[in-house]
Amino acid sequence: MKTEMKTEIKYDCIIIGAGMSGIAAGRILREHGASTMLLDKGRGIGGRLATRWSDLAEGGRAFYDHGAQFFTVRSAPFQALINELLEAGVVREWCRGFAGAEGIPRDDGHPRYVVPGGMNTLARHLARDLDISTTTQVTRISRAAHGWLVETAAGQSFTGGALILTPPVPQSLALLDAGNTRLTVSDRTTLEAIDYDPCFALLAELDGPGRLPDPGAIQLRGEASSIIDWIADNHRKGISPDAFTVTIHASPDFTRQYWDAPHDLVAGMLLDAAVPRITATVRRWQVHRWRYSQPVNAHPEPYLRAGTDAPLLFAGDAFGHPRVEGAFLSGRAAAISILQPAA
Ligand SMILES: Cc1cc2nc3c(=O)[nH]c(=O)nc-3n(C[C@H](O)[C@H](O)[C@H](O)COP(=O)(O)OP(=O)(O)OC[C@H]3O[C@@H](n4cnc5c(N)ncnc54)[C@H](O)[C@@H]3O)c2cc1C
Repeated sequence: MKTEMKTEIKYDCIIIGAGMSGIAAGRILREHGASTMLLDKGRGIGGRLATRWSDLAEGGRAFYDHGAQFFTVRSAPFQALINELLEAGVVREWCRGFAGAEGIPRDDGHPRYVVPGGMNTLARHLARDLDISTTTQVTRISRAAHGWLVETAAGQSFTGGALILTPPVPQSLALLDAGNTRLTVSDRTTLEAIDYDPCFALLAELDGPGRLPDPGAIQLRGEASSIIDWIADNHRKGISPDAFTVTIHASPDFTRQYWDAPHDLVAGMLLDAAVPRITATVRRWQVHRWRYSQPVNAHPEPYLRAGTDAPLLFAGDAFGHPRVEGAFLSGRAAAISILQPAA
């Protein structure tokens, strides 16, 4: 990597977001000796690789994966990483398919992987050698001499020769707008076309074991009239040994329709639909709203390199392929593009 930068540029690259794509980018840059800082507004890292827990009155903890539930592997680079993680015991195969509305377990031959400590453990494992500043909400991005100036809600500034943006695209565009950073009309039009489905996640603690079909989850996405896309038993998945908990994901249509509704109304409707399948009594619940759950019209390339003179790259699961694997491949490709000299 070229390092002939003015002294005011502190890092070779700043990455906004420490979800799977930001972490994947950070790992490549670090491997190649580029000084890199990741900034994330969350209290922890991982973004949509999200695991929540609560203390139980009787001792122990209840755990829930409330964003990504499992992941699949289709590409060689991701397979190589997952092979290492399987060997290290960070990841395990959960199953090779899920029951649909009819409740009959399915096996399509493709492994679905989970993380025994919860999905967030995967992010923390992969990011363990990276420089990351959490609780750092970026509010503005503008051009600096030979790079980028990134300003935060707490009044900090970071400067980098290159910048990778991995938040959901509308959030990244808002940061550029706040700093009066102009994109070409073509880049702006491409980026503005990217949209995401919203998703309610209902997290429920049960009074006993749920009775979902093996392996403890049911996939209802696309089933006519279902307001639920997915139900997973976190106890049977192996991430909540002390408590019987389920994660319920609402369909995008239902979530859009009830986005501003009170949470007890939303929870009531989702539980009415889910409880007959779970067949256990719900002790307590909470609702989480994902405004940007999964992209609906991803950009075909693994990243978008904006037509600016200092490197500015948009990456994440809305570029190339969706989901956890797509986020990994996107971050990785964006970092490799920064390391390569401009054509
Ligand atoms: C409900 C749900 C279910 C899902 N199920 C699956 C599944 O089963 N399998 C699967 O493979 N994928 C699933 N996904 C998708 C998967 O979680 C994502 O594709 C992947 O985690 C996206 O990673 P990312 O790094 O692109 O984005 P994110 O994980 O969203 O990371 C972006 C990061 O940017 C940070 N950020 C945003 N704005 C700022 C700012 N202003 N300043 C600083 N930091 C900022 C955020 O805090 C976040 O950590 C699911 C997602 C959801 C929400």
